[in-house]
Amino acid sequence: MALPLLGREFDGVALVMCVACPLLIAFPVSVYQFGQRQRLKQAKQAMERIHIELDHAHKALAQAHGLLAERARRDGMTGVLNREGFFQSIRDTRMPATGGTLLVIDVDHFKSINDSFGHQTGDEALKMIAAAVAGCIRNGDLIGRIGGEEFAVFLTGADEGEATIIAERIRAAVARLSLAAEGGERRGLTVSIGGAAGQHGSPLAELMRQADRRLYEAKRHGRNRVVMGRFWPEAA
Ligand code: GH3
Ligand code: MG
Ligand code: MG
Repeated sequence: MALPLLGREFDGVALVMCVACPLLIAFPVSVYQFGQRQRLKQAKQAMERIHIELDHAHKALAQAHGLLAERARRDGMTGVLNREGFFQSIRDTRMPATGGTLLVIDVDHFKSINDSFGHQTGDEALKMIAAAVAGCIRNGDLIGRIGGEEFAVFLTGADEGEATIIAERIRAAVARLSLAAEGGERRGLTVSIGGAAGQHGSPLAELMRQADRRLYEAKRHGRNRVVMGRFWPEAA
């Protein structure tokens, strides 16, 4: 088309140029395009691999984070919840919805166990007591170590009567334990328990204070006993 406009004839040379020029241009362009497409394909595959690896890393990180968070809520020695974990769990999930009874459990004359058998045997006693208490409560209940030789239990939805039965069961389970000390000596263990049966919305701090007061009443009356009572709003 261009040749006649340029005033030239469409001869054999023109015919060869018409065929050769597009071929000469098209071939390298096609090769270049092919190369680019291959590179894009490889880059896409590499991106997909990175995406999968990132996904795995993200899942592993979330799992590690969950484990760490769980470990931070637990008492390293007994495996039950620690003080913060225990009270946080009540606040987060149980108390506002269901009500329930808070028990405060203190080991009797624990100092003399340490003094007689050593701190390590004392630690063994604490592990045995934590396991015995945990064995007396239901799945939805909570157990925590809230002090050195002091545990707390939250009995989800339990009223005063039900809580008294469970607290008595805990007391009796600990009283059946026998601590083996060096030299074959054995020593019994007991706990005193104070309980406050709350209703929906009972303030946790006050529930704790009332359970604590009853614990000391149990101590005063000779230990190895349960003193239970309803949450008393007038006392709050
Ligand atoms: P009470 O019957 O009045 O509760 O007497 P108690 O001797 O149990 O109470 P006291 O508060 O006088 O002593 C508690 C002891 O618990 C003192 C402390 O050394 C010991 N204790 C606290 N934490 C631990 C622990 O993690 N391991 C061991 N082995 N002993 C602990
Ligand atoms: Mg104590
Ligand atoms: Mg004690």
